[in-house]
Amino acid sequence: MLSLNCTILAQVVETACKDAARHGRWLVAIGRAAYELECNPYVERNPNGHGLIIGSSSGECYAANGECTCVAFRHGQPCYHRAMARIVRLHDEALERQQQPAQLARDIKAIFAAMDERESASEDRLIRQLETAVPSLADRLAKAQREMAELFA
Ligand SMILES: [Zn+2]
Repeated sequence: MLSLNCTILAQVVETACKDAARHGRWLVAIGRAAYELECNPYVERNPNGHGLIIGSSSGECYAANGECTCVAFRHGQPCYHRAMARIVRLHDEALERQQQPAQLARDIKAIFAAMDERESASEDRLIRQLETAVPSLADRLAKAQREMAELFA
């Protein structure tokens, strides 16, 4: 069984139906493809390339991408195998586009985390500088106060 995002799948099937509105056989193929994607547990993405490996209820097994190993394809007819392969390809592309912003967000977060690390390192340096500067400042302030006190005594 393929893992598919139901929302994206529905959008892709809807678009495919609109695109095939004037091609009756393709509409039938898309309808069957949508049904098979929901019900057929013997469908997998081709691990050795693109397209699908489809175990059919007829007992046959088909490999489909732009081409197909079925009889309908040999006779130049639309088949639900190719419709399925195209629907899954469009689904996977849409899913990848959807996931890109999430990846970008993760990258940006990592950059900020690295910047924070560098900034806190420079904060530590600043604090050390202040710790050495403040005592001498306090000394000078105390000396100035003593001088003032002597002047106005
Ligand atoms: Zn076919």
